Amino acid sequence: MRKIYSLFNRDTEPGNRARYGLAQRFLLLLRRVLLFFVFGGLSFLFFYLMVETPSMRELQEENSKLLSQYKILSQRLDDAMEVMQNMQERDDNMYRVVLNAEPVSNEVRNAGYGGTNRYDELMNMDNSQLVVQTTQKMDMLAKQIYIQIKSFDELVKLSREQEEYLRHMPAIQPISNRDLKRTASGYGRRIDPVYKVPKFHNGMDFSCDMRTPVYATADGKVVSTKWKQGYGWTLEIDHGYGYVTRYAHLHSFTVRPGRNVVRGEQIALSGNSGKSTGPHLHYEVIVKGRHVNPINYYFMDLDADGYDEMLRMAENHGKVFD
Ligand SMILES: [Zn+2]
Repeated sequence: MRKIYSLFNRDTEPGNRARYGLAQRFLLLLRRVLLFFVFGGLSFLFFYLMVETPSMRELQEENSKLLSQYKILSQRLDDAMEVMQNMQERDDNMYRVVLNAEPVSNEVRNAGYGGTNRYDELMNMDNSQLVVQTTQKMDMLAKQIYIQIKSFDELVKLSREQEEYLRHMPAIQPISNRDLKRTASGYGRRIDPVYKVPKFHNGMDFSCDMRTPVYATADGKVVSTKWKQGYGWTLEIDHGYGYVTRYAHLHSFTVRPGRNVVRGEQIALSGNSGKSTGPHLHYEVIVKGRHVNPINYYFMDLDADGYDEMLRMAENHGKVFD
């Protein structure tokens, strides 16, 4: 029996020594085991913290590589977002202006950010700030791309409608330039060729030979081909969108009412019928029930010089054919 037991159990009966001794031996053993673990743990921690193992070095290198890759990724996202912003500006300032559409509002473009909890799980990582920022940028970019695609879809639809609209808007002369002698008279107050009194001329006269082909000036439907008091043989096309064109003093028709025509399609031959003082075509453009000056509806035929020339001829107060 070692002294230490008798020291602890100085006053106990010798008969109890064996029993207490067993418990104490167990406690001692426990203490040794605990000490061993504490010491072992501390040494492990010490070596772990102080001594770099090859695998740790590898891990560290990998970590720093990852970090720099993350930074590059973040920068590239910045570049992509700049391109995106450029695209948004073009969308708002060019495409939407041309197609007469409202710009996409900032609320729509930037909706869905600023939630504080979305990136919480990422905040616990090392370098969390960088990871969170990069993830945020990625989310923003994805959202903005989605909105941009929607915007372009809408613009494609608008431009199709615009195309349709432009096809139905009077935009050429009803007589080919090569068949034209000269424009006898334009729109406005003129002296009536028959009654010799001032009268409003609500169309434009194209002086040309008898039986010169007359063309539809836009897509539409022929709604009437009939004799009209003063106008003689007259053809009317309804183009939709509020546009109607009228072709008068004709010789004959080459299409029937109800026929859908396209711009540039021949519809009649010019003549001298009705109240007319010479072979010519009288052409009217009516917008939502009101006569307008046809000179503003030749934009597909005339360049700037041609327009000036047409204006000069149309404004001269020379002979009116009516
Ligand atoms: Zn006329």
